[in-house]
This record gives sequence, structure tokens and C-alpha cells, in this order.
Amino acid sequence: MLRDKIIKTQPIVYKTLNNAIQSKKFAHAYLFTGPKGTPKKEAALWFAQSLVCEHKVDGFACEECDTCRRIHEENYADLIVLDGTKSSIKKESILQLQEQFSKTALEKSGKKFYILDTAENATTEALNSLLKFLEEPNGQDTQAILIVDSIDRLLPTIISRCQIIPFKPLKSENYYDEAIQDGMDILDSYILSNLVKDIDLMKQTQETEEYQTALVAVERFVTQFDRDIDRFLVWFETEILGNKDKDKEIYKMFLDICLLFFRDVVSLKSEQSSWFGKEVKRVAEKKYAIDRILLILLESKDKCNRAYNLQLLIEQMIYQIKEVL
Ligand SMILES: [Zn+2]
Repeated sequence: MLRDKIIKTQPIVYKTLNNAIQSKKFAHAYLFTGPKGTPKKEAALWFAQSLVCEHKVDGFACEECDTCRRIHEENYADLIVLDGTKSSIKKESILQLQEQFSKTALEKSGKKFYILDTAENATTEALNSLLKFLEEPNGQDTQAILIVDSIDRLLPTIISRCQIIPFKPLKSENYYDEAIQDGMDILDSYILSNLVKDIDLMKQTQETEEYQTALVAVERFVTQFDRDIDRFLVWFETEILGNKDKDKEIYKMFLDICLLFFRDVVSLKSEQSSWFGKEVKRVAEKKYAIDRILLILLESKDKCNRAYNLQLLIEQMIYQIKEVL
């Protein structure tokens, strides 16, 4: 249920919408704002569902009935979603929206909704038309929800006509849970939820050769760095390096996963079911100067973008780690 997810991850959003729903006092327009990856669009559809669902639970949508399903699929006659995620929202679309909303509602609830997804990606002309529409609402039954990643690029005159609903960035645990639910395996979910805070990006990254290669290298590194780091270096240089286009990306990914690993060693908090968790436990018992290792890895990452000779940079990193063990 989306409701449970919102309660858990966006308590302020839930509280604000709950107040509106319980008191039946709604703003004419809401502005859902928050970083990419937060469930703004889902929440917008859920809010619309909650206003017209015929089987409400505590005032909120049941998320199961025919009406809820059609809104979820954006297949509800009195719902218009303008999508600015891929291309800009044009003035014509806003005018069409106004035209359609000037007519009587088609669905029996009588309520009409429009959602502007990524509204900051609307043209200035479109925003000016929208502003007029916001100023002269078509009766009380029209509900607007604007969705933006950041309000900075929106006209102040538009912002002032909306009630702002701020979404806070999700924690990595939230992305982890979502990835697990989507069927991603435990270790990838754990690592990627810490590395990239966006579920789609997590899936994309998981598929890349860079990530897969880096992960293999990290496994070898964390098992060998305090036993035979020279052997690791030889292996890395002969088996991993060699593709000029990808070497740098692989090395950066390698460093990011290593950083996560050694931070887990410090905090003794990790996913426990794989080699990753087992090695965290093993290394934690050794009492190495982990803070120094973290610093070496961070420095190497910092230099990586500017590095002319990647092989030299890696050899320096290995040499420095040898020094602190
Ligand atoms: Zn329902």
C-alpha cells in the first residue's frame, strides 16, 4: 500500500494531506516538491484517489477499487497528467487542459484533477497560461497538483498560489527495501542503495559492466588487502584494466564500494548474508587503522578525475595502504 510507504518515509506529507482530508479543506493547488526519486507522482495520484475513492479507509483511498485503479493507470476521464519529465510542457497543452476542464465532469464524482509532473520543465508561455488558470479556478471541484524537483525554477507567482508539500530525501534503507521488493538481490540492493539514491538508477547501474567488474574487484580486494595486496595489484592490472574508456569508471565504482565497506567496518553495520558482511566482520576484528585507509581511498577518488595515469594512481593507493597496515 502506498499509504504505508508515505506514512513511513514522508511523515510530514502524510500529516499535511491527512489534515486536509479529515477537515475536508483543500487548497486549490498543491505543489509537491522534493528531490528526484521521492514518491511525488505516486503520492499525487494517491491523493487524487483519496478524494474520489468509493471505499475509503480512514479517509484515504482503498487503492484497490475500480476508481482507484483507473486513477493509478491514469485512465480516469477527469484526470489529466501533463508529463514534463522527458519533454517540456507546452502552452497548447495547458490551453487544452483549460478547455477540457471548462466542461462538465465526465465521472460521477464531479471532481477534476490535473497533475503537472516536473512542472519546472514547462515553457514560460505555458506557465503564464497556467497562472491565469490558477487565478481563475473553474469552480471548487478542480484540483491541481504541481510536481517539481526544486521550486527554484518556478515563477514565484505560481508558488504563491499553491500550498507547498515538501518531500524529504529518502534514506538508503528506503531504497534498499524498495529494491528488495522489486526482486533485486540482497547484496546489490545493499550496495546500490548506498551508492545511488534513485531506484531506477540503481537498476541501471546494476546492469552495467563497470559495476559488475568493480564488485568482483572489491571482493578480491577486501579478502586480499591485508594478506597479499601485491597479488591483488597484479591481478587488477592484468585482469581488470585495459579498456581505456571504462577503466576510470570501474576504478571510481571500485573505490565507492570499498569506501562503503570500510565505513561498515568502522560502524560494524552491514548486510550480513554475503561475502561482504563476512569480510566486514573479519576486518573489524583486526584493529587496522581504518580511518587512514578511508582517507587514502577518498584521496584516490578525488584524484581520479584528474588522473592522467590511472595505473600510477592505483599503485600509489596500494602502496599507501601497505604502509598503514
Ligand atoms: Zn478505492
